[in-house]
Amino acid sequence: NTALRAVRSHSRLPFLQRLASTLAILEQKEGALNSASLGAVTAGQKIGGSIHGFVAGKNVKGVAEQAAKVNGMEKVIMVDNEAYERGLPENYAPLLVENIKKGGYTHVIVGHSAFGKSLLPRVAALLDVQQLSDVMSIESEDTFVRPIYAGNAIHTVQSTDSIKLFTIRQTSFPPAEAEGGSASIEEGTDPKAECPTQWVSENLAKSDRPELATASKVVSGGRGLKSKEEFDRLIPPLADALGAAVGASRAAVDSGFADNSLQVGQTGKNVAPQLYLCAGISGAIQHLAGMKDSKVIAAINKDADAPIFQVADVGLVGDLFEKVPELTEKLKK
Ligand code: FAD
Repeated sequence: NTALRAVRSHSRLPFLQRLASTLAILEQKEGALNSASLGAVTAGQKIGGSIHGFVAGKNVKGVAEQAAKVNGMEKVIMVDNEAYERGLPENYAPLLVENIKKGGYTHVIVGHSAFGKSLLPRVAALLDVQQLSDVMSIESEDTFVRPIYAGNAIHTVQSTDSIKLFTIRQTSFPPAEAEGGSASIEEGTDPKAECPTQWVSENLAKSDRPELATASKVVSGGRGLKSKEEFDRLIPPLADALGAAVGASRAAVDSGFADNSLQVGQTGKNVAPQLYLCAGISGAIQHLAGMKDSKVIAAINKDADAPIFQVADVGLVGDLFEKVPELTEKLKK
């Protein structure tokens, strides 16, 4: 009895807790590793302990080999099955659950991307644990920082769940270095779960400009542009002069000035470029939620009291129809 009591009391001591082991879910498409998803490895490094990567889809051997070279990666778990190629959460979630159970992981991390956001809640439900979303910083193995109220408040949460499942804000965790590792590759468990959803097609906006979510410079336009014609006439040339991606406010998207894949904000993309230059955007909290972590914010607005100027590092009060072409011409020179 005494021995049993000793074991029980010891089991509450931190040094007898399970050692941290992270499963970082890696996104891939048609055999190409999505480098932004390597932020999950960076987050795993902050936790400490071992880091395994997980990749599933059609002909993923090459992706697994690429992932094996990532700095800090110890092992890559690979499931080669066409059924997982599109990342449909209905069959990907049970696949992941089997592999999490098999590996006995303490932490499971995925990017706060469309894929991660639809996948992880299902995994959490199947494992009966609580998911944490949009983690911006890791304080310790069980304490995480995340935004609430559209980024207006920052929440520090401690999880007592046996497995910590969380999505990470990719702008807060840069991708782990692609070289330097020599992980082993192991076949994962494939439960071959039925998928009630069928992938039919996708219609992607094509652009030669940098990808909005990962661009180092972004030029965004808002309702102040007045029409799609003016948006197209003024914003893309300024973006091209800077080598920047194009973004837009929701009002600009809803008014049909820009495609909704360009929306920045609470219900659009989160960006944190070196430079975020915007014109004709008032700076509503829902817009700020998606760009206020940008290193330098520059704004052009005719209203000196526009809230965007409260977060801007550089502000220009003036008529964008005059200032934007002037700036574009100067940059071209
Ligand atoms: P406005 O607020 O109308 O601002 C236009 C600005 O242009 C004004 O400041 C004006 O002074 C300036 N302007 C006008 N003419 C000129 C000129 N000639 N020269 C210079 N400046 C000029 N919004 C987002 O952007 N992203 C989101 O993800 C998002 N999600 C939302 C989610 C929810 C649940 C809700 C309720 C709202 C959301 N919104 C979002 C909408 C948000 O509240 C604002 O309505 C929106 O951001 C406003 O866009 P805007 O700044 O382009 O337009």
